[in-house]
Amino acid sequence: DLTASNAAAQIVKLRDQFRTDTEIVSAASKKKTQAVFGEALPPVRAVERICNDVREKGLSAALNYTELFDGVKLKADQLRVKPAELAEAHANIGDDFLEVIRQVRYNVMQFQSGLLQRDAVMPVSGKHELQVRYRALKRVGVYCPGGAAAYPSTLLMTVCPAQVAGCEQIIVTMPPNATGAYNREMLATCHELGITEVYRLGGAQAIAAMAYGVEGLKPVDMIVGPGNQYVALAKKYVFGQVAIDCLAGPSEIVVLADDSAHPDYVALDLIAQAEHSPGVAVLVTWYEPLINEVQDALTKRLAKLSRADLARDSLERFGALILAPNKASAVDCVNAMAPEHLHIQTRDPDAILDDIDSAGAVFLGPFTPVAVGDYAAGPSHVLPTGGTARFASGLTTNDFRKRTSILRFTRNGLKDIASDVIFMANREGLTGHAASVELRANDNGPAARPK
Ligand code: NAD
Repeated sequence: DLTASNAAAQIVKLRDQFRTDTEIVSAASKKKTQAVFGEALPPVRAVERICNDVREKGLSAALNYTELFDGVKLKADQLRVKPAELAEAHANIGDDFLEVIRQVRYNVMQFQSGLLQRDAVMPVSGKHELQVRYRALKRVGVYCPGGAAAYPSTLLMTVCPAQVAGCEQIIVTMPPNATGAYNREMLATCHELGITEVYRLGGAQAIAAMAYGVEGLKPVDMIVGPGNQYVALAKKYVFGQVAIDCLAGPSEIVVLADDSAHPDYVALDLIAQAEHSPGVAVLVTWYEPLINEVQDALTKRLAKLSRADLARDSLERFGALILAPNKASAVDCVNAMAPEHLHIQTRDPDAILDDIDSAGAVFLGPFTPVAVGDYAAGPSHVLPTGGTARFASGLTTNDFRKRTSILRFTRNGLKDIASDVIFMANREGLTGHAASVELRANDNGPAARPK
């Protein structure tokens, strides 16, 4: 019974669970919560406790939670990865790896450089001038999930936009594995990107340490990067103390296809998202035979896949093959879901693109699989999930900059605008505001006091 609207409802439900509920937390995580807190706290409450503890007690709390959740007891001087460790990983990683990292870095930097917003000056009637000025945030923290796993792409897609913006200090935190060690590819990528501050911290304790600062780790202005539910909820909790990129939930794809789509292409695109575990993978079509063809292709392709169990589990829980009555209703269904990734595999994708209101990133045609955007094309793969593409956009270099408006009036400019200001200020009962303008507008003496 996968109608367009109940498939959209499934995605909305997943999003809400991710933000607040215990439902999608694994059994192992629930066990950990019970062991650490002595009760089955929902993730949002657990995160609150961890963040408050780190804010109040500093490094000792952060290290204590690292021991409890990651199973590694670190001393204070092991918090930061030594520069020699970064350099050594880089020296031994091999040229093939570094060549790919350099090429992707180039692609990302090129794209992000093209997006940089420029300062603007708007002279108004020769009597006053309005400006907008951009400045980079000074210190940015990047969270990289699963320290034992390798996600160099996450580093590239977050660090490079921050570097284009001109952020002076970019730090990275990653949860350590049980021996306190890291994947060498992550360390080598940090070194290649010029990152010198890497900290062994994961989960909510990492987010709190970056937001509030702890001994040996100075607070940042903004935290970016994906992670599990604890990481996302902690980012939400510290928002306001620092800026954040978004609340990244499970990854999503919607494939919008007609009779021209290859069932095997579509099946692999759905699987590629589903293997994130959990990942949301949905096909919407108005060409009925494609439903069974994709179903058969999924079975065939899953049989050959190394992460088949994870992908199958996601597809069963959050997958859907939707037959829409016609093209217009298929497009409505996509807009209702506001997916993170939308892949349009139709004869004329551009003809549909105009009707798409909400999507984090759109991939056009049979030769633009989402994986190209995930790894190498240029736009950041940090994208709005869970329907938040209704109001949010993917990470760009401009998110790492703040905007300041600058105003300058001449005496005549002030005289021109004075009556409007005085009127508004008096209406609001703020007579001091009115007086500050009135005094100047009526004063024809020298602009500055004589020396
Ligand atoms: P993670 O780094 O997000 O989380 C690990 C941390 O979770 C641990 O250090 C621990 O502090 C905390 N934790 C675990 N159980 C807890 C509990 N019961 N209470 C409090 N804290 C607890 O790594 P992960 O768990 O492997 O998750 C990685 C996530 O990141 C996945 O959802 C993956 O899909 C996502 N991801 C997304 C992208 C992307 O760009 N969108 C890239 C890579 C990974």
